Amino acid sequence: MTDKKRTVSVAVIGAGAGGIMAAIKLREAGVAKVRVFEKEHDLGGTWRDNTYPGLICDIPSHLYRFSFAPNPEWSRTFSPGSEIHDYIRKVAQDNAAEEMITYDSEVTRLEYVGGSGGGSVSKKWRLTTTQGYQGEFDIVLSAVGILHHPVYPEIEGLDRFAGDCFHSARWDHSVSLDSKRIGIIGTGSTAVQIVGAIVDDVDKLSLFQRTPQWVLGVPNQSYTDEEKTRYREHPEEMQREYDGLAQTLNHGFAAAVVGENDEALAAMQNGCQQNLDDNIHDADLKARLTPDYSAGCKRLIVSDAFYPAISKPNAELVTESITRIEPEGVRTADGRLHELDVLVLATGFDPHRFLGDCEVVGLGGATLADAWSQGNYAYKTICVPGFPNLFFLGGPNSPIGNFSYLLTAETQYRYVEKLIDLIRDRALDEVNPKSDVTAQYNESLKRAMAGTVWASGCQSWYFDRFGNVASWPWTFARFEEELSQPQLEDFQAA
Ligand SMILES: Cc1cc2nc3c(=O)[nH]c(=O)nc-3n(C[C@H](O)[C@H](O)[C@H](O)COP(=O)(O)OP(=O)(O)OC[C@H]3O[C@@H](n4cnc5c(N)ncnc54)[C@H](O)[C@@H]3O)c2cc1C
Repeated sequence: MTDKKRTVSVAVIGAGAGGIMAAIKLREAGVAKVRVFEKEHDLGGTWRDNTYPGLICDIPSHLYRFSFAPNPEWSRTFSPGSEIHDYIRKVAQDNAAEEMITYDSEVTRLEYVGGSGGGSVSKKWRLTTTQGYQGEFDIVLSAVGILHHPVYPEIEGLDRFAGDCFHSARWDHSVSLDSKRIGIIGTGSTAVQIVGAIVDDVDKLSLFQRTPQWVLGVPNQSYTDEEKTRYREHPEEMQREYDGLAQTLNHGFAAAVVGENDEALAAMQNGCQQNLDDNIHDADLKARLTPDYSAGCKRLIVSDAFYPAISKPNAELVTESITRIEPEGVRTADGRLHELDVLVLATGFDPHRFLGDCEVVGLGGATLADAWSQGNYAYKTICVPGFPNLFFLGGPNSPIGNFSYLLTAETQYRYVEKLIDLIRDRALDEVNPKSDVTAQYNESLKRAMAGTVWASGCQSWYFDRFGNVASWPWTFARFEEELSQPQLEDFQAA
């Protein structure tokens, strides 16, 4: 019976927002066996791990939602992290996703092996977890996230600090900050959010800045009960809000950063400068807070609380470089010791690690680590030659930064579902992108990157260790267009 659809099994790695969405959609699409492996004890990924004071999603709430679960209950323009975690949990509950998840199971190895046949595809991915589980799946979908592996700074003496010290993604809530001297290393979105949230509770706050950042001062307003009721009763109005935000961010901002909307780029630059001018009145502080690169080059920060907070008498912006950490605090290049009780490392994440701790062995025994030894790459962010039927959400060069990641992940998922359909419908046994097509695609991607604001003269976490920018260099519309339909000729015939 060759015309009968194949029954396929899919392993999803990671129960963050992306993995939960994919599992729900795969089951809805009729995939017989969907199993989600999550290394931690709870779902939610980013919104489970990050619990620092002031955590908000700085993409507007009504844009940061799944298309199938619009949410009239968002409390603010930019919702707190805990609210997003609750939202993901509710979506999982409403769609009975929990029953597909196996917790405390880190996937440590994937190997593409000859399978036992049985009417399905001839080869399988053998998956191994830390629990000792071994199972075979036709398809693997990686949803391991991008901002998942915390980066710890390499500063002499860090381990000798006598006070409490933790990464912002591992916040120690047993440590009270009340009336203490707090140091924060880093000036990205996380540090900015923490400063605004804690400055009034602490005795002294020292922010150690290596590079100043552009900050857009958008107010974080509460939605009124009337607005929530209106969205509940008139979902079309909530959709209009979404459409407006999508237009502004995906087609305005996203086009601006890739060099396709100079007007929007100039408006962003002016908005940031205005925010600085309006809120920082001390000339020296202002000079030290003014970046020497274009707005948008680093991930744009959104906060109307930061400048007022860093101007407070108990806050200090430290711009001398750090020479070492001592038991009592941080020593800077001017010889000064900044005495501290608590040191927070808001030093970000390694966005280039992907399945970093998992050994992936593909066709002919080749490993993904070897394939990516000169830099991560993929075909259209989704799959890698030599690793058939292994797909990525948030894979190399996905649109990241000031975008709604949920929208990115859903766009990628829809494409992956179409690839899976090629297998189910027996059009392909293996989905394996051609090497030459993938290489050409990545060459054009690198060429296009030169015209983006990210490559305009700053250092940022968008760059990998080879100096390549790991984001999407074209418009969001092109991303949606490229992932609208698989091009069969781009894949190995099998
Ligand atoms: C502080 C912070 C603020 C952010 N703000 C925004 C924002 O404003 N807007 C925006 O769009 N995005 C933001 N992001 C990005 C955010 O990560 C994404 O929006 C989204 O939550 C990613 O979902 P995910 O499911 O792809 O990944 P994650 O949320 O990272 O989830 C990945 C999951 O995979 C699990 N996992 C990883 N490896 C394995 C393995 N080998 N085996 C089993 N399980 C594994 C992890 O434990 C985790 O649960 C922010 C991120 C951080 C850290």
